Amino acid sequence: MKQRPSFPAKLDSTLARNRPNTVGVNAPAMAKPAVTASPATPSERVRPVAVAQVSQGHGMESSAVRARMVQKLAGQGITDPHVLGAMGSIERHRFVDSALINQAYEDTSLPIGLGQTISKPGVVSRMAELLRNGQVGKLGRVLEIGTGCGYQAAVLSLLATEVYSIERLRGLHDRARENLRHLRLANLHLLFGDGMDGYAKGAPYAAIIAAAGGEAVPQAWVDQLAMGGRLVAPVVTAGASGGAQALLVLDKTPQGVRQTLLEAVHFVPLKSGIA
Ligand code: SAH
Repeated sequence: MKQRPSFPAKLDSTLARNRPNTVGVNAPAMAKPAVTASPATPSERVRPVAVAQVSQGHGMESSAVRARMVQKLAGQGITDPHVLGAMGSIERHRFVDSALINQAYEDTSLPIGLGQTISKPGVVSRMAELLRNGQVGKLGRVLEIGTGCGYQAAVLSLLATEVYSIERLRGLHDRARENLRHLRLANLHLLFGDGMDGYAKGAPYAAIIAAAGGEAVPQAWVDQLAMGGRLVAPVVTAGASGGAQALLVLDKTPQGVRQTLLEAVHFVPLKSGIA
């Protein structure tokens, strides 16, 4: 595991305090408005780490690490300023287990429990950019299938007027709710259910994004997509029983559905039912 200078020491202890199972203890702290707050006073900024007013200092530390991550994303070809801005402001380290915090800003997927993973920042930003499709303002209503730990949902909530995010595993749905509480994202709606059916109550959607890969795109998703809307999803590529996947972009146009298959990706499988 690569260590980054100055970053992990403070975050470790900060985040250890914010694990879901200590929520009772942390409830008042989590009720504070988010996120990249500066230390309360200039003097705290120069205190040695050993004194460790960790909860005061980590915001600045992690925002610097995030800025580096955003630079790398830009270097990989992400150009949409809205996407880069959202990636720079959502604290990914709050969505991973405390043992993995040192890797939170590396371009890697990480386990989030129940056999699932948080997507790589590179993939989250790539899909968000495809979803936005160069639009000037915010996206309208967005449906996400596969909330997982809630990280991508938080990113999307900064890019869209409303986000509906469905998760089929109760344990992760609950964890996402916990992870997202501090952000108080009023336009983000977390739903527990089988995303195969989409979520008809929120339809039509300007955009639909899946974080799990199936054999095909369920018809419900296409039906719930607005005319002119775009769907981005990993799909198992034809004939590949080993589960090779590629990113699919589907545009719903008055002339019909237009599908484009892009680069290879690796997502957890899309599954039916709830658990
Ligand atoms: N966007 C997530 C990635 C989570 S991994 C993040 O930022 O962390 C994909 C998630 O899709 C898993 O949590 C998995 O349980 C969920 N999933 C798979 N099939 C699903 C379905 N039919 N409906 C809803 N969620 C599903």
